[in-house]
Amino acid sequence: MPKASKKSKIPEGFDKIEPTLNKLLAKLKESQAKSLKTTNKNESLWPIYQINHQISRYVYSLYYERKTILSELYQYLLKQKYVNKDLIAKWKKQGYEKLCCINCIIVNEKNHENTCICRVPRKQLEDDGKDFDRCITCGCKGCSSID
Ligand SMILES: [Zn+2]
Ligand SMILES: [Zn+2]
Repeated sequence: MPKASKKSKIPEGFDKIEPTLNKLLAKLKESQAKSLKTTNKNESLWPIYQINHQISRYVYSLYYERKTILSELYQYLLKQKYVNKDLIAKWKKQGYEKLCCINCIIVNEKNHENTCICRVPRKQLEDDGKDFDRCITCGCKGCSSID
């Protein structure tokens, strides 16, 4: 007999959020396909980061802010990797509530020597006379929590 009973069950409430998740995942796939065909690598990755962010944000707000999904469903989404666990963990920390993506806070020689410019508050950038439109990592327009 196959171990049918051991298969992870889909938690209650999943059917309610599935259409939104599927729509976002379809958009994600589309962006990934587009990115493979383009020569402008950096920019073509931006939508991928942004949609990933959107999916995690959607689930995060359902669970932590609107409290409309149960813990069982939330854990399931984490386990099935619908959401970015690391990103959500950061959002719970003060100062990181609006963080765009994990890459922008990873400091190493391949990325940037300091945390990405998109993490610096607008006000501070203006005071420093720095020009900033979008960050090159993920296309973020600024994700400081005091902006
Ligand atoms: Zn950012
Ligand atoms: Zn950035």
